[in-house]
Amino acid sequence: MTMEREIETMREAPHWSYSAFQTYLACPMRYYFRYIEHAEVERTSVSMPFGRTFHAVLSERARRGLAYTVKDAHEAFAVYFKFETEACENLTYKPEEDFWFWNQRGCDMLDIALADWPDDYLVKSVAEAFSVKVPGLSKPLVGEFDLVTVDGGDETICDWKTAAMKWPVGKADRDLQATTFCYAFQQKYGVNPLFRFDVFTKAKTPAHHQFYTLRTSDDFDRFVFLANRIETAVNTGIFFPVESSMNCAECAYSGRCKAAHRKVA
Ligand code: SF4
Repeated sequence: MTMEREIETMREAPHWSYSAFQTYLACPMRYYFRYIEHAEVERTSVSMPFGRTFHAVLSERARRGLAYTVKDAHEAFAVYFKFETEACENLTYKPEEDFWFWNQRGCDMLDIALADWPDDYLVKSVAEAFSVKVPGLSKPLVGEFDLVTVDGGDETICDWKTAAMKWPVGKADRDLQATTFCYAFQQKYGVNPLFRFDVFTKAKTPAHHQFYTLRTSDDFDRFVFLANRIETAVNTGIFFPVESSMNCAECAYSGRCKAAHRKVA
């Protein structure tokens, strides 16, 4: 079985991504371990293979339309989730959770996703890879639009998210991924699109919420400024830990991080 996508080929060459920018902003030390040292992860939270699997099944629904049934989705989820979990380094579950717990949770979330699925627009692309230039950066910006739709004259990038809880009001309007992806779309097509997050909560009773957002040309200018500042900081070797309970609780490099200052001293 292969889940190879065009984006995987693009990622083989040096590049920037939204994840790399976001990782640096959250914790430059973690950026160093992941993108410079390519250190082995000490643990992989199940949320990573779970999210990848959920995306893969929603991509199939987007491609196949109404012919894709809930039964198809459940069967595909089990197969992909097994593949994704087996491919993980040091996969960890919380106590009293296991593969079958999350398999069932995934099926419950898919029930909501398929029941709420809007089919009143044209699907322009699914899992569309992009590689665009950003002025001043030495490497292209690459990424993948989950889904692009056309409704009347509006083109919309849709991004599927699995989240522990419902997003707070205003989060979508501040989100760097929406800025990065709208910028990339504008570079690729010359059109500034709408952006929609479809957020599925991983609660015992899952829920689905949609958040629309827009970006301006000034947002794009600020993104270019930020991206250049990050590249300069990385090239200068500025990597320091940003310790907080939110950052460090599930960090895959916490053991390595605890010892980092001893190596420098
Ligand atoms: S443990 Fe915390 S400070 Fe250290 S790399 Fe991870 S997120 Fe950063």
